[in-house]
Amino acid sequence: MLCVNSVSEAAHAIRRGQLVGMPTETVYGLAADALDAQAVLRIFAAKGRPRFDPLIVHCCDLAMVRSVAVLSPRAERLAQLWPGPLTLVLPRLAVVPDAVTAGLDTVAVRIPDHPLALDLIRASGRPLAAPSANRFGRISPTTAAHVLEQLGDAVACVLDGGPCRIGVESTVLRPDPSPLVLRPGGIGREALAAHLGEAIALAGRDERAGALPREAPGMLASHYAPRAPVVLRQPGQPWPDDAACLAFTGHDLPATAQAEILSPSGDLAQSAAGLFAALRRLDARQPSRIVAELVPDHGLGEAINDRLRRAAGLG
Ligand code: AMP
Ligand code: MG
Repeated sequence: MLCVNSVSEAAHAIRRGQLVGMPTETVYGLAADALDAQAVLRIFAAKGRPRFDPLIVHCCDLAMVRSVAVLSPRAERLAQLWPGPLTLVLPRLAVVPDAVTAGLDTVAVRIPDHPLALDLIRASGRPLAAPSANRFGRISPTTAAHVLEQLGDAVACVLDGGPCRIGVESTVLRPDPSPLVLRPGGIGREALAAHLGEAIALAGRDERAGALPREAPGMLASHYAPRAPVVLRQPGQPWPDDAACLAFTGHDLPATAQAEILSPSGDLAQSAAGLFAALRRLDARQPSRIVAELVPDHGLGEAINDRLRRAAGLG
């Protein structure tokens, strides 16, 4: 396996039905030709991902989006936010293989905001199905090295775009019949609501499960998980001496704690960008457990807290 900076080499691999590690502004994706069912099945096999968990299709422009899905007036308005960390769940066209959508009549689509991803999609001439480039249920990759660690044998190559700018996955939103966030992510609900001029609900666990094929729910509760068990710290509780700690600002951490601090100044964007790498570093110390504190629950904080709860198996 090679780490390359050649988009044309990577596009050749895509056209041969192979897998490519693709940088995006959110996390690194494991990309394949979304219109080639055999190639898409290789994604599920490489990740160990259950087939009932549908994939996001990455497009380079609106014309490509319209070749796989139908946009309602509300979806058109949300599409003005592309390229960006927003995935829309839309009625699909027949050209999309069942393997991508897990047999649903909707498809999740976005236009990523990363020059290498856009170049790769354009050079391949195909929409690319790409979940995060990690083994199913484990921590998402935010550098090319993270991809090589877990999936080096599965990919034809990885395009190295450096560390991901946003660091958590895209916000998944179903626009109709009324806008509903199925997964909080790289763009906060407040920003989406301001753009649409209407309130946007956050799906509870049951609604989230209801949007997916029947088998999905329980399987997806634990996710983004390190090897060590993750426990959430209750507000005001002292930090333990015998565990690895993931702190937000770290203002009340004892000097002796084995800790990672997400943002000393309390910045949520900085916290999101460093979240998965910090979890990996803590896990590499092989602690008996990782104690993590939640962050303020607004903007990107909703996505960070969602990932921490799911890492703790409370998804
Ligand atoms: P990822 O694991 O980052 O590839 O994100 C894929 C997630 O998007 C899935 O686990 C679902 O939660 C969501 N998703 C993808 N396609 C659909 C769909 N057609 N309907 C509802 N949710 C979807
Ligand atoms: Mg993932």
